[in-house]
Amino acid sequence: MGIIIKNGTIVTAKDIYKGDIRIDGETITAIGESLPAEPEDQTIDAQGKYVFPGGIDVHTHFELPFMGTVSADSFETGSRAAIAGGTTTFVDFVIPEKGKPLGTALDAWRKKADGHAVADYGFHMAITEYTDSVAAEIPTIIKEGITSFKCFLAYKGLFQVDDGQLIAVLENAGKHGGMVSIHAENGDIISTLTQRYQAEGKLTPEYHWRAHPAIAEAEAVERGLTLARFADQPLYIVHLSSADGLERIKQAVARGDKVLAETCPQYLLLSSDLYCLPDFEGAKWVMSPPLRPADHLEKMWEGIAKGYIQTVATDHCPFNFRGQKEMGRDDFTKIPNGIASAGDRFNLLYTYGVGEGRISINRFVDVVATAPAKIFGMYPQKGSIVVGGDADLVIFDPEATGEISVKTQQHNVDYSAYEGFKLKGLPQTVLLRGRFAVRDGVYVGEQGHGRFIARSASGVSA
Ligand SMILES: [Zn+2]
Repeated sequence: MGIIIKNGTIVTAKDIYKGDIRIDGETITAIGESLPAEPEDQTIDAQGKYVFPGGIDVHTHFELPFMGTVSADSFETGSRAAIAGGTTTFVDFVIPEKGKPLGTALDAWRKKADGHAVADYGFHMAITEYTDSVAAEIPTIIKEGITSFKCFLAYKGLFQVDDGQLIAVLENAGKHGGMVSIHAENGDIISTLTQRYQAEGKLTPEYHWRAHPAIAEAEAVERGLTLARFADQPLYIVHLSSADGLERIKQAVARGDKVLAETCPQYLLLSSDLYCLPDFEGAKWVMSPPLRPADHLEKMWEGIAKGYIQTVATDHCPFNFRGQKEMGRDDFTKIPNGIASAGDRFNLLYTYGVGEGRISINRFVDVVATAPAKIFGMYPQKGSIVVGGDADLVIFDPEATGEISVKTQQHNVDYSAYEGFKLKGLPQTVLLRGRFAVRDGVYVGEQGHGRFIARSASGVSA
């Protein structure tokens, strides 16, 4: 007994065509015109619908202990929101405690995810200090399918590494088939400004934004790329937020650097004006890097359209306004950083990217699914529609309409950063390895159906 998706418009990063898809078990077993159905097969009519590969969000923080609290979505609620919104695979960041083995942290993250996630998942490993024992563990971690590492050039005194440590991680990971990404903000600029504003009694959410200027991102992008060039390794920039940072990437591409960049919906659709809302409301959007002035947004879209930005992830890391964001009511440095958007990414990108003519439908598939799979070693099992690949599919109704609201979201948090955003085009049915996670708009997924993906080396080389 299989499933046949009939008469859909199949869209990949390269093609768009009418056809049927046959699924047996967890796998796509045939793609073609008028595929024959056996009597016991289930048939789904996808006439007038798009069939997309399941989305891949390579930047989430579910259940993350951070800033004296824990991010509000568990692996179950966060992945449920993701899959309901068309994202069938995510990659979360393991953040080890200093002085403890990477393997201990990985075990802790596996425990939070295994048996709980409803979408498939992998992990990146953050390196927050580079010691002999960390160095020795890196090859083992890669063998376990954690093939990407992240260094922070921000969060001074907490996660921030210096240049020597970044070089060492680039060289060590690169030698064993791993790839390095960076949080590109200069932590020293940020701490200088933060201390200055605190001394001046400027403590409202607006000063979080002011303490994270775009020049801090541009500097860190430039420095990271210079060190990656020195180490002869590719570099992936997570959550690129500013036109200034993008300019540095364009220059790096022109000189032949192997640079990959990710942005997030918030840096395409929301602006820093929100920080100046009265009554502490701006705290809802406190994140690092922060939102940028409105004139950055179209430039970031253009960066995607022109191929300077390869992926759109979320940096999903929600905190309730009540009780969590409020921890920083008297001091912006105590506002937990982050927003929810794992469930919104796919649909926001479609409505405001494809729907508004900023990116093509193929580019949409590339940035939400295919490029993340290729860059992070999951292709072609994930991220495309091919015979032999996992049957992770989104049957998408381009005529369906909706509106993002805290009242209807699946995220486990008490507000939406996108409240009132209209959507045109929504997932109607979502399959994860041939099983229904969403059927005719209704979530039918199962706790623990998500599976750990041991990833191969990145499809990108130095
Ligand atoms: Zn992050």
